[in-house]
Amino acid sequence: MSHPFTWVPGDRARHASQDQVPSFSGNEFPPDITVTTLCGQRVTSATGDLAWLWKTCRTCDERTREIVGLEPLAEIERRIGTNS
Ligand SMILES: [Zn+2]
Repeated sequence: MSHPFTWVPGDRARHASQDQVPSFSGNEFPPDITVTTLCGQRVTSATGDLAWLWKTCRTCDERTREIVGLEPLAEIERRIGTNS
């Protein structure tokens, strides 16, 4: 097992989820199932190259960075001087 979460495109954004990926599906969720995301939404999973180009969900991004112990986005933005 790598990380305790899986990235999943759903409802036009890339979210991360701690739901169990069905074993038949490898490392990705199959399309058209309901997935609970780290930002507390329930989205319908999508697959394919276009779906992976959707914008990354900010909340999920921050949660996953927390889980794996990466620097918070706000910290990076402060350093490079971006204010959003
Ligand atoms: Zn999200």
